[in-house]
Amino acid sequence: MDALENNTVPSTPLNRRPIMKRNSQGLKQRPSHDTEREFGGTLGALCIPILLPLTVMFLICVSRSPEASLLQWPPALPSTDQLWDPLAPLLLLGWISLHALLYVLPLGKVSEGLVLRNGTRLKYPINGFHSLCISGVLLMLLLGLGAPLGSLFELLLPLAACAIAGSYLFSLYLYIRSFWVPSHALASGGNTGNPLYDFFIGRELNPRIGNFDLKYFCELRPGLIGWVVINLGMLMKEVELRGSPSLAMILVNSFQLLYVADALWNEEAVLTTMDIVHDGFGFMLVFGDLAWVPFTYGMQAAFLVVHPQALSSLGAAAIIALNGVGYYVFRKSNSQKNQFRRDPTHPSVARLETIATATGKRLLVSGWWGLVRHPNYLGDLLMALAWSLPCGFSHLLPYFYVIYFAVLLIHREDRDERQCRAKYGLAWDTYCQRVPYRIFPYVY
Ligand code: NDP
Repeated sequence: MDALENNTVPSTPLNRRPIMKRNSQGLKQRPSHDTEREFGGTLGALCIPILLPLTVMFLICVSRSPEASLLQWPPALPSTDQLWDPLAPLLLLGWISLHALLYVLPLGKVSEGLVLRNGTRLKYPINGFHSLCISGVLLMLLLGLGAPLGSLFELLLPLAACAIAGSYLFSLYLYIRSFWVPSHALASGGNTGNPLYDFFIGRELNPRIGNFDLKYFCELRPGLIGWVVINLGMLMKEVELRGSPSLAMILVNSFQLLYVADALWNEEAVLTTMDIVHDGFGFMLVFGDLAWVPFTYGMQAAFLVVHPQALSSLGAAAIIALNGVGYYVFRKSNSQKNQFRRDPTHPSVARLETIATATGKRLLVSGWWGLVRHPNYLGDLLMALAWSLPCGFSHLLPYFYVIYFAVLLIHREDRDERQCRAKYGLAWDTYCQRVPYRIFPYVY
């Protein structure tokens, strides 16, 4: 929260004179023109919402083409009947409504977020794991009743097209409604006054309809659980085509299910992430949560339907071991930091070496956070590699995720470092001297 309080990012020469506006409630709203723009500023905000949706459609088309070549140019364009199916919007609306219903059910505990700029704290239901389990039971029932889950393979393009269209509409709604909220409810970086950039990066920090938190809901539920349902659909398609699922398909499904289940089991931890604490809710997060994650993260499973791979037991064992190591590093490091932030006197973290900062918070300099400055990203990347390896080495496409994810995490690490440097100043520099590597020990 300190970063939000201090509005830490340096001003740029072009934006030194913020104009005071009044919102509908008469409160002064000061566009944060002095906030550094991210993701390439206006140009990024113009290009990313066009290029990334095209990338989603491109990857789906390529994954089912016989060549599966990312370098195939010009790419084969899908016909309109491949892009549209009236079932797709119905399935998406049904899926989102189911998860909205599960969100409001009084299951699990209720947790408080970090303190907001106006001194209040929002309440969040911690029942994402319940939603995953209930979705799983419902899917098993549907499968038992003979529902053709393998048809998700044919529906992938229309579903992705609807999710993309829905992301644009939803982001527009979020942008418009943000003009009716008080200034303290706006994200520090999303209020530049440039409509294109603000639409993209998100103006409002925690948009809510009553107690229903739109950003928190989208962050881990319909898209993330949708991803593993699509994976299961690909597995069922393989069963339809070849009689049984391949070992490669089982590994991809299991690894990614473990990842999603872990995220939902530890749902409370999302309340302290950059996405919830710092970023506004705009196209970037909406599209990421509802279209990018479900339709590109499972690309390996879609690829395996058309490009079956033989995997030896030894190869499978090595890949399982890699995923296990990645998961261990990822989970242990995330849990260590969460525990330390929640209760620094807890026996599991009390003996770790720390350094003081001017904000009163301390930084870990031993344990996982003494190995590299983002051990959790290291574990995540090892897992991402393990998800691609079952697809063999004949194509680049299944490695798209790990390559993209490395770029994303390197960029995210850089964003986080800048925020931490602004928050902690000299103490952060001392931490960087003590722990010189960012993600990969002795490499980066
Ligand atoms: P992190 O969990 O890495 O948190 C970064 C914050 O941790 C910093 O801002 C700082 O906040 C605190 N911190 C940093 N260094 C220290 C230290 N030495 N001691 C104590 N606190 C420290 O943030 P993310 O949200 O980026 O990542 C969370 C997880 O989500 C990661 O495992 C990541 O891999 C994963 N992820 C996955 C994505 C996906 O698409 N699959 C996308 C993005 C992330 P403060 O000091 O204010 O507490």
